[in-house]
Amino acid sequence: MSSAIYPGSFDPVTKGHLDIIKRAAKMFDALTVSVLNNSEKSPLFSVDERVNMLRKACRDIPNVKIDSFSGLTASYAEKTGTDVIIRGLRAVTDFEYELQMAQTNRKILPTLDTVFLTTSLEYAYLSSSIVREVASFGGDISEFVTEDVAQAVYEKFSGEKQNG
Ligand code: ADP
Repeated sequence: MSSAIYPGSFDPVTKGHLDIIKRAAKMFDALTVSVLNNSEKSPLFSVDERVNMLRKACRDIPNVKIDSFSGLTASYAEKTGTDVIIRGLRAVTDFEYELQMAQTNRKILPTLDTVFLTTSLEYAYLSSSIVREVASFGGDISEFVTEDVAQAVYEKFSGEKQNG
């Protein structure tokens, strides 16, 4: 059975991520979308919140499973017995970093390959940080994320305003 991991921050999951998830799910028998718990970043959403948002957004895709991990992606891949990592490429700016990561991962685990899917043009400009920024100024993010995610993002920012 062919399987792959799609790792990322997903803070929050965007329609660009979902496009990659749907396309990768067609290429592999099983796809695990996994939220990286990165202690160096201070995310808007906790890992559990991000996992739950992804579960909701992917509930209709039967061969997709949502998980989370911390530490090296290569160690996580080895532990789960997966040989393929999926990453999205939006623009040339993504390329250098992604190439370095893919080569590092292969150095750590020689059986591990990275498959890059180029973004659909309609989502090429989209990133989680753009979603957070637009929402923080009260802008409309309905084109960028699902309805559930948009609501969760607005709630976060209105909570932050009340607390701060
Ligand atoms: P990370 O912080 O690990 O880059 P992200 O959640 O920002 O995590 O992105 C995870 C993956 O999804 C990366 O491979 C990234 O290039 C890809 N990605 C992000 N936004 C888009 C988009 N709009 N279209 C296609 N791929 C995307």
